[in-house]
Amino acid sequence: MPLAFRQLAAAGNLDNLRLAIRPRAATAAGVTPASATATAAPAGAAAASAAAAASAAAAASAGAAADGDGNARRAVPRQTGPVDPLPGTGYRGPIFMDSDIYKTLEAIGWELARGPQPDLADYAASVIDLLAEAQQPDGYLNSYVQASGEPRYARLTWSHELYCAGHLIQAAIALHRGAGDSRLLGIATRLADHLVTEFAAQEKGLDGHPIIETALAELYRETGTGAYLSLARQFVDQRGHGLAGDSGLGRRYLQDHVPVRQAVTETGHAVRALYLEAGVTDVATETRDHELLDSSIRRWDDMLATKTYLTGGNGSRHVDEGFGDRFELPPDRAYNETCAAIASLQWAWRLLLATGDAKYADHMERVLYNGFAAAIATEGDRFFYVNPLQRREDHFEKDDPGRRRAWFNCACCPPNIMRLLASLDRYLATSDDSTLYVHQYTGARLAGAGLDLELVTDYPWSGLVTLRVLGAPPAARGLALRVPGWSAAAAFKINNSPERTVAAQAGYLKLHQEWQPGDEITLRLDMTARWTHPDHRVDAVRGCAAIERGPLVYCFEQADQPVRLEELDIAPGTQLTEREVILDGIGRTFQVCAAARHVPPGAGPAVQGITAVAIPYFQWDNRGPGAMRVWVPLS
Ligand SMILES: [Zn+2]
Repeated sequence: MPLAFRQLAAAGNLDNLRLAIRPRAATAAGVTPASATATAAPAGAAAASAAAAASAAAAASAGAAADGDGNARRAVPRQTGPVDPLPGTGYRGPIFMDSDIYKTLEAIGWELARGPQPDLADYAASVIDLLAEAQQPDGYLNSYVQASGEPRYARLTWSHELYCAGHLIQAAIALHRGAGDSRLLGIATRLADHLVTEFAAQEKGLDGHPIIETALAELYRETGTGAYLSLARQFVDQRGHGLAGDSGLGRRYLQDHVPVRQAVTETGHAVRALYLEAGVTDVATETRDHELLDSSIRRWDDMLATKTYLTGGNGSRHVDEGFGDRFELPPDRAYNETCAAIASLQWAWRLLLATGDAKYADHMERVLYNGFAAAIATEGDRFFYVNPLQRREDHFEKDDPGRRRAWFNCACCPPNIMRLLASLDRYLATSDDSTLYVHQYTGARLAGAGLDLELVTDYPWSGLVTLRVLGAPPAARGLALRVPGWSAAAAFKINNSPERTVAAQAGYLKLHQEWQPGDEITLRLDMTARWTHPDHRVDAVRGCAAIERGPLVYCFEQADQPVRLEELDIAPGTQLTEREVILDGIGRTFQVCAAARHVPPGAGPAVQGITAVAIPYFQWDNRGPGAMRVWVPLS
C-alpha cells in the first residue's frame, strides 16, 4: 500500500480530480475551464489535500534518492505517448490518472474486509467526497475530460473514459462487498446508468482499453440490473468491426481487427487483450453463451501453448507492449508487463469458475509465484513494469538499466499490484452446496459447503499441505484439493490412515465423507527440483533448459556464480541438489545447484567442475545489478 499511496500523492491524481470540480464553479462565473488552476481544494477535501501534499513532497525526494535513473528525479509524470493530455489544462500525468485512484480504492475495499483500519477508511471517505462533488448531474465522471473541456467520448480510442469508469465500478464493488460501504456504489451506478443511456443499442465507438466489460458484468452481479450485462455484451460483440478507431499501432493493437467470436489467437497490447478476455468470459458465463465461452477457451489454450513465458508472463514485443507471433518468446526482450500478469490471472480465474478445470488454477499459481511475484522487491518499495527472463551484465534500455524502480511515469502497476494482493484470499477456494474446492495453498482459514477448515503449510518451500477440520455438518461433504500438474507424484492420508497415492493428472483429489472436528487431511506434493525444456519452436531458447521446483521457476543470478554467468553451460540431465539458505537482500530461500562448465570466450578449453547456483525467479534483482537468466545453455 505505501508504494501506491506515494505514487498517487506524487503524481497528483487527486489534484486532477479537484480540477474536474473547479470548472463547474468557474464556468458559472464566466471563466473558461482551461484557465482554471488547481490552487484551491474543496473544503471537504482540505485535510486529504494537505496530507497528500506532504506525502507528495516526501515521495518526490524519496523517489529521487532511491531510483538509479533520470526519471526518478521527476516529481510528476510527463511523458505519456499517445495519451498526452492537451497542454494548458493544468491536468497532470497520463489521461487515465483516475484509474489509479480507483485501483487504490478497490484495494482499500478488500483490505477493510479483514477488519477495521481507520486510516484507510478515512482516506477512502475523503476521496469519495471528492468524487461525489466531481460527478456531473447526468452521472458522467472523468477528471481529464472535465478539467480540459474536451468533448466527451470524442476520442475513445485513447481517452480511457470507459476504462476509468470500469475501474471506478470495480472499486465501488470492492468497498461494498468488503466494507459494506455503498457510497461509491451509488456514484458507480449513476455512472453506469449514464453509460447505458449514452451507448446502449448504439454504435458510438469503443473504448480503446477494455475493462468496462468485466466491470459492467460484475456490477450486474452486484445489483441485478440487466442493462449493465447487456451493455457489456454489446461492447464485446462490437469489437472487431473497426469501432475502436485508429490507434496508430494497427487494429490488432486494440483487438479490433476481427470479431471476438472469430479470433483464434491473442494479438496486440497484452493488458488490453487479457482484460477483454476476462470480460468475454464474464459475459459468456452470465448469458450462458457457449459459443462465446468456447472462443475464449480456444484462445487461452493457444496462448498457453504458443505465447506464454515459463513465468506465466505475456507480451514479447516492446514496441506495442504486445503479444508477438506464436513462439516468439525471446527471454531478454520479454515485455511481460506486471499488469498483464494480473489481467491474465483474472481471465484464468473466470475460466476456472466457468469450467472447473484445474489447469486454470495451475496457471494462476504459475503467474502468482513467478510472473507476478517477481514484480515486487523483497522490501516492497520497488516494482518492475517489465519482467524479462534474462538481463545481460551491460543491459540498458535507453538510459534504464532494467532494475526495479520506485517510480515510473506510467504508474498503472503499483495500484494494480495492491488490489490483487489485497484480494488474494478470494482466489484460494470456492464451494457449492456439497463440496469445498481448494485451488491454492497458503496458510488460511477456509469455509464453504458447511465445512470450516484451517490450512497449514510452508508452501511453496514445502509440498506438505495439512487441512484441519474445525467444523463440519452432520452429513457427508466433498473436499477437492488441487493436485498441481507439475507434481510428479502426490499422496494423501486422512488422520492416521496409510498414505495413498493420488492418480496422475487428477486435477483435483476429491474426498467425500462425513467429517468430524479434529480430522486432519494431509496432501504431499513432490517439490523435487526438475529440469524444464522449451518447445523446440521457441527459437530464442532452443538448446537451453530451465529449473523449476514446485510452483517456482528458477533463475541464475551473477551474484551466486563463481564465473561470468554468460560463460556457463550445463550438461543435459545434470542432477540437481537443493539447500535452504538465508541470503542478504533476499531472506529465506531454497537454492538449487547444478554441476556446470566454464566456457571462456575464444579457443580456450572449457573448465569442468563449476557449480552453478539458481534462486527462485521472483527473488531476483534484490542484490544489486548484474546478469540474470532463466534459460541456461546446455553443453
Ligand atoms: Zn502496468
